[in-house]
Amino acid sequence: MKKQFAIIGLGAFGTAVALELMRLGHDVLGVDFREEEANRIADSLTQTVIADATDEEALRELDLQRFDAVLVAIGEHIEASTLCTLLVKSLGAKEVWVKAITSIHHRIVQKLGADRILHPEYEMGLRVAQSMAHPNMLDYISLGDNFFLIEIRPGDLLEDHPLAELPYDREQIHLVALKHGQQLTLHPDPTHRLHRNDHLVLVGDEEALRRFAETL
Ligand code: ADP
Repeated sequence: MKKQFAIIGLGAFGTAVALELMRLGHDVLGVDFREEEANRIADSLTQTVIADATDEEALRELDLQRFDAVLVAIGEHIEASTLCTLLVKSLGAKEVWVKAITSIHHRIVQKLGADRILHPEYEMGLRVAQSMAHPNMLDYISLGDNFFLIEIRPGDLLEDHPLAELPYDREQIHLVALKHGQQLTLHPDPTHRLHRNDHLVLVGDEEALRRFAETL
C-alpha cells in the first residue's frame, strides 16, 4: 500500500531516507530551509517545500496529520530539531521519528513524545565494527535481549561438511535457512553438504553466535 511520508531536513541522512522511500513506491514530501538542498532532489520526490521547520505557521500549512510518519532529520542543529519535534507533535502528526546526535538530544525528544529516535552514525558505527571484527558475518539484525539473526559465510574450513555436523551450540543457535546465490532454502536438509558459496542464516544468542563466528 502506498504511504505518505514527510522528511524534514534534506542533509545526507534525510535525503537517503527520502530517496529510498520513493524507490519503495511511496509518496515523499521533503522540507528544507536551504533552497539549494531542496532543489537538488526536487525532481526525485513527490513534493519539496522550502520552509523553516521551526516556524509553526509554515509547518501548519504542510498539514502534517495526513502523513503516515514524519521524520525530523535535522542533524547538527539540536535546537532546531527539538523545536521542530515539539511543533510536529503538537500539530498532530501520527508518528514522529527523530534523528538524534547526542544523549541529551535523545532525552529531550523522548520527553517531547518522539515515537522513534535514531542515531544513524552510532548504529552504523556498531555495524561497521561487527563487520570488521567478523568479516564472515555478512549481515545481522538485533532481535533484542541479546538475540540476533545473522547471515554468515562459513568459509573454506567447513566446505563439504554436512549441516548436521556444523560446530555450533544447538541449544543456543538455530539454523533458519541456507542461502545460495539468489536462492533461499528454509529449514534445509541436515544432510546437505556445505558448498563454498553457501551462506547460513542463523538465529540465537549473541555470545553463542560470536563463538561460532570465531571458529571460522
Ligand atoms: P546530515 O548529517 O543528515 O547531513 P545535516 O545537519 O547536515 O545532517 O543536515 C540537516 C539538514 O536540515 C540540512 O539540509 C539543513 O539545511 C536542514 N535544516 C537545518 N535546520 C533547519 C530548519 N530550521 N528548517 C528546515 N531545514 C533545516
